[in-house]
Amino acid sequence: MTTSLKAALKTHFGFENFRSKLQEDVVKAVVRGDRDVFVCMPTGAGKSLCYQLPAVLAEGITLVISPLIALIQDQVDHLKSLNIPACSINSKLPAGERRLILADLGSSSPKLKLLYITPEMVASPSFQPCLTDLCTRGLLSYLAVDEAHCVSQWGHDFRPDYLKLGGLRTRLPGVPCLALTATAPKNVQKDIAQSLKLSSPQSFVTPVFRSNLHYDVIFREMLPNPYVHLHAFVKKSLALDAGSNAQGCGIVYCRTREACETVAYQLTKLGVLAKAYHAGLKAGDRTEVQHEWMQGKVLVIVATISFGMGVDKANVRFVAHWNLAKSLASYYQESGRAGRDGLPSSCRTYYSPKDKEQLNFLIRQEIGRRQEKRGSAKETDKAAITDFEAMVSFCMQEACRHATISKFFGDKTPNCAGACDYCRNPKAVRAQLEKASALSTR
Ligand code: ADP
Ligand code: MG
Ligand code: ZN
Repeated sequence: MTTSLKAALKTHFGFENFRSKLQEDVVKAVVRGDRDVFVCMPTGAGKSLCYQLPAVLAEGITLVISPLIALIQDQVDHLKSLNIPACSINSKLPAGERRLILADLGSSSPKLKLLYITPEMVASPSFQPCLTDLCTRGLLSYLAVDEAHCVSQWGHDFRPDYLKLGGLRTRLPGVPCLALTATAPKNVQKDIAQSLKLSSPQSFVTPVFRSNLHYDVIFREMLPNPYVHLHAFVKKSLALDAGSNAQGCGIVYCRTREACETVAYQLTKLGVLAKAYHAGLKAGDRTEVQHEWMQGKVLVIVATISFGMGVDKANVRFVAHWNLAKSLASYYQESGRAGRDGLPSSCRTYYSPKDKEQLNFLIRQEIGRRQEKRGSAKETDKAAITDFEAMVSFCMQEACRHATISKFFGDKTPNCAGACDYCRNPKAVRAQLEKASALSTR
């Protein structure tokens, strides 16, 4: 089977090899088709192929649920450019085109291989009969649910319409389901399995631990000059002194626009070209900054967290957090943009108790506003605080940083082997904490 799958991969998608063993294993499991499948792999790992290749090889049609029309459009265009029959039925589709698609779906042997819909469409009465009909005729090969974390209220991107998918599954008996996501702590994974009614699914999860990332925490307020400190970190991470011409780059995350501007200015003044990226810039300027960074013309982008979604750059040598991330889950995701090429990279948080208090205040204020709007408290509100506290503990603990992250995501304790400040030098971590506590009680 392996050779024929590889041949198909080459023929239909033009790839010589699978991206990873995991990608190959998922495809095999999906093609076998005897069980539901759960996939959790990071952004850029090639999750789409996990259903696209089986879809091409299957007799019937694969139904793909994806949350955004824009995401769907990209995928459909891409598949069409590969000569793979794919389309999407959505609210924006002109009636004529919609009729053509429905006619194909109603024919005895539809040409379509992949049909993308948003979860709103799932419940649409005009579309329901078409799906049930396909199912009774045995023409639905798979149901793929992309961005599956959207079913979970614990997730960062909850979409109520995703909850309709449980009902859809009941109406499509015998169609194996493939759920895919990039981030899923244990509680989110459980929600996904429950909501999508996955029956003893086979799970494929990229281990949380990434041995090429070096984590450390520096207490910012104890530094004589934090900008000089950051600058030294940037230079070391990018090996600028070594005269290396390996083009690496980095990201500094800040909470506010002002902080972005200041840090970018200071780094540039100290001799490393850095540019700010935040919502206060004109859209055109933002795109330009991102472009210059992607091309390596600007080495360091100093950004609010609005930057990075969907950015897939391999040679990010460091991610520094000038301000505390709002949760350990988001910290893992943001810092995880470093080292996608597998080479050693650094993830640093510049911790500050004042900063922590500010963020604590902002999070509770936000929760208060949400509760006022809906008039009640919710589990998710508690989760926001728990996740924030996990981030603070990550900074304040005398423990392996990798172990803390893995544990948070319900993974087993990894073998850090010196890939964090604590494992490298626990005494230094303790000394820093002691100094900080002495300063705070003075
Ligand atoms: P994800 O959904 O996991 O974020 P995508 O499915 O969007 O990732 O894929 C990311 C990129 O990887 C795409 O450009 C895709 O074409 C590419 N890709 C996927 N599989 C392979 C492969 N086997 N070999 C090379 N590139 C691949
Ligand atoms: Mg994807
Ligand atoms: Zn460690």
